[in-house]
Amino acid sequence: MQQIILAINAGSSSIKFQAFAERAGDLERRVVGLLEGICSQPRLIIRNGAGETLAEQIFAPETIASVEAAQEIVGDWLEGPSGSAAMGGPLIAIGHRVVHGGADFAGPVRIDDRVLARITALTPLAPLHQPKNLAPILAWQRRRPDLAQIACFDTAFHRGHGDLADRFAIPDALYREGVRRYGFHGLSYEYIAQLLPDLAPAVAQGRIIVAHLGNGCSLCALKVGRSIDSTMSFTALDGIPMGTRPGAIDPGVVLYLMREKGMDAASIEHFLYHQCGLKGLSGISNDVRVLEASSDPMARLALDHFVYRITKGIGALAAVLGGLDALVFTAGIGENAADVRRRIVDSSGWLGLAIDETANKARQFDISARLEGPRVLMIPTDEELMIARHTLRILATV
Ligand code: AMP
Repeated sequence: MQQIILAINAGSSSIKFQAFAERAGDLERRVVGLLEGICSQPRLIIRNGAGETLAEQIFAPETIASVEAAQEIVGDWLEGPSGSAAMGGPLIAIGHRVVHGGADFAGPVRIDDRVLARITALTPLAPLHQPKNLAPILAWQRRRPDLAQIACFDTAFHRGHGDLADRFAIPDALYREGVRRYGFHGLSYEYIAQLLPDLAPAVAQGRIIVAHLGNGCSLCALKVGRSIDSTMSFTALDGIPMGTRPGAIDPGVVLYLMREKGMDAASIEHFLYHQCGLKGLSGISNDVRVLEASSDPMARLALDHFVYRITKGIGALAAVLGGLDALVFTAGIGENAADVRRRIVDSSGWLGLAIDETANKARQFDISARLEGPRVLMIPTDEELMIARHTLRILATV
């Protein structure tokens, strides 16, 4: 009987989870689940590895009012008859996405009391994400204390950044205290970096920018398969605009909000994480699909600004890399919004990038227009598989 590894990716209002069976060191997907709309309109959908629906349920909002409550629903299903049959073996370990690993965690670790305390202590650096990542860890500790739990950090892939990329221009004492440019979405970038040697061997060891464009958005500069810089930094607020976050913003704006609007830290935090970005600028929605379908000029402006800022970010990272061999799109917008991809590539044409519209619309892997010059690629990300791979590796080392 094959042993099962569960990968949990808990976000602000959703839990993604996947169960994998280990087969001769390889991982076979058995269960793919999503519980979304926590606190608003909770909806659970679970499929098997072949994409067939195993469970689909809508809950009353009050029944799932927290990530903890959502985790119990997920746990009950997985350990019940349908989940056990779908997994087809005993659960031996759980890997968790943990957004912030601070300066210390440069790779995944097995969670014990000491690690848990250190992850908890990093909460001020990711106040909205870290508690949501901790909730399923604590829930499974209570539920199944016998299982190994592994923390896989979104910051870890960026820990090799050089001193120049890792710093702000602030006094060294603050840097030593942990005020650094950490970078996020590391599990997604690491997954792409691991795929590139197989998918695009000619450029995999070159200068690559990966654009992770989802609800959260960032760019990562890869050189010889390793992250050398990223647009997100101390928190997941920096860099390019996102669904509801503004990306880089003059710190003077924050001072203005405090002085002139009387906003305190909590209200500014809520503003920056939830009321800006595509949603704030358009005044309509954070969802690219809704903005693309709208005839409102502010929807147009929000998308134009999004493309403009990403173009600027690509230019900056291309400068850091000293040129560009490939641009890779991934995550919800990067994988699905063909028009956004086309516009970003068109406005980055000075780098030699050009897109083939037919391949782009068909969601092909290589969507470059030219045979020569830098490649334009679209690669679906798979953070849960990356978590499961890390978990397997850590289990093998103890
Ligand atoms: P993620 O966080 O990676 O799940 O990405 C979620 C975002 O992807 C949504 O908020 C949408 O803006 C975007 N998205 C998903 N599907 C599409 C689509 N078919 N067309 C355009 N944007 C999409």
